[in-house]
Amino acid sequence: MRAAAAIWLAAFGLSATPVATAKQAPGLAQFVTLGTGGGPLTRVKRSEPANALVVNGAVYLFDAGDGTQRQLAAAGLSVHAVRAIFVSHHHIDHVGGLAPLLLTRWLLDDRTPLPVIGPPGMTNMVDGIASAYRATELAPITIGGPPMPAIRATLAPRDLPSMLDTPREVYRDVNIRVLAITNDHYHFPPGSAAAASARSYSFRIETKDRTIVYTGDTGPSARLPLLAKGCDLLVSEVIDLSAMAAILRRAGDIPPAVLGPMIAHMEQDHLAPESVARLASTAGCKRVVLTHLSPGMDDETDLSGYTKGMAAIFAGPITVANDLARF
Ligand SMILES: [Zn+2]
Ligand SMILES: [Zn+2]
Repeated sequence: MRAAAAIWLAAFGLSATPVATAKQAPGLAQFVTLGTGGGPLTRVKRSEPANALVVNGAVYLFDAGDGTQRQLAAAGLSVHAVRAIFVSHHHIDHVGGLAPLLLTRWLLDDRTPLPVIGPPGMTNMVDGIASAYRATELAPITIGGPPMPAIRATLAPRDLPSMLDTPREVYRDVNIRVLAITNDHYHFPPGSAAAASARSYSFRIETKDRTIVYTGDTGPSARLPLLAKGCDLLVSEVIDLSAMAAILRRAGDIPPAVLGPMIAHMEQDHLAPESVARLASTAGCKRVVLTHLSPGMDDETDLSGYTKGMAAIFAGPITVANDLARF
């Protein structure tokens, strides 16, 4: 970060130095569930899906739903510590916070091109964000001084291959190695435009001390056990189908012809607790953390629906994550 930005931050009483990472032993990886609510609902207690892997003071984001910047601040993590962003898929609950984060980083004088790695369409989305904010680019917050770079010049987007049947390395630096597979979150009719282009991925993150697998959104998938094999921590999405169906039925204004297919989509495209347990057991994972809680409503008091039936299948520890929890 350049001096001008440091002065600007100091003027607002802000620091560009990560705070909470000081608590962490050097070299040890920590996974922070920044946002644990599933789907595009605005909640008070659960932000939209976002996760930070923190290692040696560097932050790697896995999904960036609406509210990611605020959740980073709440976790004591600086936007300047972000070294790469991985996007599991392009549903809005996973990318809604991307543009504000990228623009803030640009504005605060961070010039290193940031890898933004995601499904086909990722580069197009980043190009679009840069061009959508052209008016912001033309309205700098300082008078004089060195010229600001183009927003796009501070970003290094990359599209993942359209189909990864087996885990393949998609990123590596001194702290982490990331592998990905294409998962089974989408079941579009063959021949449709969506079937041709929409893809969803799960990630395996290898650090010096631990291996963490993040499912993103997916239904049961034969490829997932390959990716999750022997991992220390499986961070999985989960859906409480009966609670979700009850909420949809209570909504009252959804016609039965729409309600049935909606519930079928949730069964097919997401993971029920027993499906998560089967994955963890088959892959030999040591511990399970459940996130992307659906429905995950603010008035929820009983969380047992998210773990129902799991203990009979998977013997290891199972935790239902809250926002800002560290694992
Ligand atoms: Zn989602
Ligand atoms: Zn999704």
